[in-house]
Amino acid sequence: PASVFSNVPGAPEDVVFALTSSYKADKDPKKVNLGVGAYRTEEGKPWVLPVVKKADYILVNDDNLDHEYLPILGLESFREASVKLILGANSRAIAEGRAGSAQCISGTGAVFTGAQFLSRHYSVKGASCYISRPTWVNHRAIFEGVGIPVKEYPYWNPETKGLDLTGMLAAMDSAPSGSIFLIHPCAHNPTGVDPTPDQWRQIADVMERRGHFTFFDCAYQGFASGSLDKDAFSVRYFVERGLEMFVAQSFSKNFGLYSERAGNLTIVAKSPTVKNRIESQIAKAQRAVISNPPAYGSRLVSLVLNDEKLYGEWEKNLSTMANRIIDMRQVLFDELTRLGTPGKWNHIVDQIGMFSFTGLKQPQVKVLKEKYHVYLTDNGRISMAGLNSKNVKYFAAAVDDVVRNH
Ligand code: PLP
Repeated sequence: PASVFSNVPGAPEDVVFALTSSYKADKDPKKVNLGVGAYRTEEGKPWVLPVVKKADYILVNDDNLDHEYLPILGLESFREASVKLILGANSRAIAEGRAGSAQCISGTGAVFTGAQFLSRHYSVKGASCYISRPTWVNHRAIFEGVGIPVKEYPYWNPETKGLDLTGMLAAMDSAPSGSIFLIHPCAHNPTGVDPTPDQWRQIADVMERRGHFTFFDCAYQGFASGSLDKDAFSVRYFVERGLEMFVAQSFSKNFGLYSERAGNLTIVAKSPTVKNRIESQIAKAQRAVISNPPAYGSRLVSLVLNDEKLYGEWEKNLSTMANRIIDMRQVLFDELTRLGTPGKWNHIVDQIGMFSFTGLKQPQVKVLKEKYHVYLTDNGRISMAGLNSKNVKYFAAAVDDVVRNH
């Protein structure tokens, strides 16, 4: 008899993961991977942060640790430290007991957990979630997956290769009141373009006036400027303004813990009572999805966040990563300028965080892959971490060729 699944159509492969597979299969020694958003050293290798190695050692030698289940909402010391990290230790919301949290399966799980909660309990029935155009591809998939309609707000201005603030504010102004807005608080993926503090004020004004709900997705705290506090400006400012919000936090990039799935959903509510009820509903929902989160990554992060000395070392490790990326931006910009590559390239140094939105078009991206063995997503996004002093000139020359000839 035919399979009971014979009517299941095949689904397309995930583009970023597919890119990594093609890169791995490519035998050319000149190949360059600028696809996946994972940090690489000057040697092009993954980096286990020295502070994580230290924390690892401490955990391995801790005879008091066991493999019992964590509570449904996760490791308490991790949750509390994560909330403090994003809101600031002196946050009003923490002092007033209205900041809560749930440990989730990294940033992706935190976005999902918040989205699932909104799909069941958000007071504005039928509200859409507005995501930036463009954004991380998973945003649409996650919100649509829980049945929340997804719409877009303008973000990237292709002419200026910068923020389309006017378009963004107009979309917020005209969205039905009480809409959900998914916002990147720093190091916007994929554009590398963030609002300035003054622009954040204007954004908060509209969000408040229109009664929209803010869902921050924070995957790169510390990666944008190298400073954890500076990168949390937008979130802390929105809290100061008295807005309620969710903040999905990922420790994949800033701790280099990609595979350990350490993440948190921070909740800022109007009152401790509301916060407690939200946490209880999230616990109920989480029980039915993952039962309880994994311990290892959260123990590592908790150890570092709760120890002054280790925290200081972590900040240094973060600067190492952020600064290497900033250096690469400069080298790439200088090289394109030296070659006289047609067009303006100042956005390479102006954009921040792990990615740069180069403005390269899809046919040019195709030539980069087929002729030069350089792998990047079709939208022209490059992960700056994939560049180093050995391949940056090669990459610049390849860009110069595709811009002139394709
Ligand atoms: N959100 C954004 C904007 C991202 O870029 C990423 C990772 O690329 C994530 C969330 C989630 O990453 P993870 O689930 O590995 O923490």
